[in-house]
Amino acid sequence: MTETVTNWAGNITYAAKELQRPHSLDALRALVGASAKVRVLGSGHSFNEIAEPGSEGVLLSVAGLTPVIDVDTTARTVRVSGGVRYAELAGVVDAHGLALPNMASLPHISIAGSVATGTHGSGVANGSLASAVRAVELVAADGATVTIARDDERFEGAVTSLGALGVVTALTLDLEPAYQIEQHLFTELPLAGLDFGTLETIMASAYSVSLFTDWRAPGFRQVWLKRRSDQPLPDFPWATPATEKLHPVPGMPAVNCTEQFGVPGPWHERLPHFRAEFVPSSGAELQSEYLLPRPHALNALQALDAIRTTIAPVLQICEVRTVAADSQWLSPAYGRDTVALHFTWIEDTEAVLPVVRRVEQALDAFDARPHWGKVFTTPAPVLRGRYPRLGDFRALVRGLDPAGKFTNTFVRDVLDG
Ligand SMILES: Cc1cc2nc3c(=O)[nH]c(=O)nc-3n(C[C@H](O)[C@H](O)[C@H](O)COP(=O)(O)OP(=O)(O)OC[C@H]3O[C@@H](n4cnc5c(N)ncnc54)[C@H](O)[C@@H]3O)c2cc1C
Repeated sequence: MTETVTNWAGNITYAAKELQRPHSLDALRALVGASAKVRVLGSGHSFNEIAEPGSEGVLLSVAGLTPVIDVDTTARTVRVSGGVRYAELAGVVDAHGLALPNMASLPHISIAGSVATGTHGSGVANGSLASAVRAVELVAADGATVTIARDDERFEGAVTSLGALGVVTALTLDLEPAYQIEQHLFTELPLAGLDFGTLETIMASAYSVSLFTDWRAPGFRQVWLKRRSDQPLPDFPWATPATEKLHPVPGMPAVNCTEQFGVPGPWHERLPHFRAEFVPSSGAELQSEYLLPRPHALNALQALDAIRTTIAPVLQICEVRTVAADSQWLSPAYGRDTVALHFTWIEDTEAVLPVVRRVEQALDAFDARPHWGKVFTTPAPVLRGRYPRLGDFRALVRGLDPAGKFTNTFVRDVLDG
């Protein structure tokens, strides 16, 4: 059988001739044991070749396995299959009166794929989605099942792992009591005159804060404050309250977005910007994102402002978020409180790539780590230099997968050197 398998954006067509969807753990283990090269595809929302197995490799999905979402209300944890998407997980968790600490801008993405790439939402005190993981269960290169939990010395390499350790079949996540969120939107926040302290105050003014700019003018077109209903309502004198519902991408309908105007609602219906039942973002796009130490935030924004006439023609929207430091060796937020500068580009690789390079030059002085799941051109040696625990990760990969069954070209570039 031959099928064409692409990523969500359609800019990557995988070389593998088909997507294998084993329906039992035994079948999955047998397939892994018998294959020389394997990569797992989650929900396919990455924009680069991170999941590409190569023409001789097996591209595998865990979506054919019976999904498990097993909530432990006493321990406040959930054990969930790797292929389950956040939208489905969140509904079940919320029905038990519990919640995840944070979500990305969309709930459509698989849990294993998201944490493998360091996917994050926003909030100065909120870590990436991988921060909620307390154990990972995977099928390793020899077909054996391995569980790596928080008390295991390999754990800090095992969650944001780029799919290089094995097939993640299940994860156990921390939960907390369910909470309500309100979204308060503002418009026209100027960049000129903004000092670092004020920017810090703005980014910390609610549980989760996003700034949006199209770089057609200096400053931010929109500010989204996601306030927890159990935390104080901030005074926000820096921008103007929105008078209508908004989509972050100019021209897109606000109906695709989660409820705004301060209407309280369950955490999972407010933390993502986009509703589960609609196409997220614009749907026709590429994305890049760079994560850098938060103390560089203002200088980095000024560096982007200086090249905004280069950026704007190929940009749909740029989003500024924050991520709390974590200790996952390959997390882009490893060891540093982070500002994340995201770009939703037009769907034109040829036009976008030179601008991606220009953005990387502008951010080079700020030790920027690209999002693992998005478009970047940062040279591998530079990338390697930005991950102080890369050697530990390399050793972990070699320990679990000595023949490199789960190592593709993307991962080899990261590991080599
Ligand atoms: C519209 C849109 C909005 C986005 N918004 C955000 C955002 O708000 N924040 C953010 O940080 N990112 C965001 N992203 C990026 C996205 O979260 C990442 O690309 C993430 O990896 C998507 O998960 P996935 O399951 O689709 O992963 P895939 O792209 O399918 O796979 C990513 C990696 O995970 C590995 N993998 C997947 N499943 C498994 C498994 N079961 N076992 C082992 N390895 C596995 C793959 O091999 C690959 O290496 C967005 C993407 C889109 C398209």
